[in-house]
Amino acid sequence: MAHARGAVRTGAPLPNAGHAALVDLERQGRLRTIVTQNVDGLHQAAGCSPDRVVEIHGTVHEVECLGCGDRTTMRSALERVASGEPDPACLVCGGILKSATISFGQELDARAVTAAVAAARDCDVFLAVGTSLQVWPVAGLVEVALRSGAQVVIVNAEPTPFDDLASLLVAEPIGASLPRLLTAG
Ligand SMILES: [Zn+2]
Repeated sequence: MAHARGAVRTGAPLPNAGHAALVDLERQGRLRTIVTQNVDGLHQAAGCSPDRVVEIHGTVHEVECLGCGDRTTMRSALERVASGEPDPACLVCGGILKSATISFGQELDARAVTAAVAAARDCDVFLAVGTSLQVWPVAGLVEVALRSGAQVVIVNAEPTPFDDLASLLVAEPIGASLPRLLTAG
């Protein structure tokens, strides 16, 4: 993901011009769903509705119990650590809490995959931004969208396996190209 030029870097990453462009798109009523492989929550931090963001690899802002699957916020878990619980257990079943991200080799969340496929099937334009489109299931979503008659627009600095099938290909960094592309409509 490209960072906006001149962005102030603090401990936590900040939304960039690419995130902001997608917020604008949502406010114009032209964005159905964002499917993201990022776990940083920056689309929501930028102002996108959380219910439009499908985090296919989970999020660092929540914790999940390995025993019962209960989810709570990372903030509440960290507050328990700060108040003297070095290794806070699940409040529902006492199980082990881990950050709600998908670890290597771990199965994806079926609800997230289902939501992503539904969105790919039900769009007019499938905008693939800042992804090499080489990893399942995101690569498969392009095929779903194509089969459903959507136009595919790829914005990525590097080539992808789907470039020949794209209606529009923008091989430039996202921070500059995405705001321009979406403003152009
Ligand atoms: Zn539990």
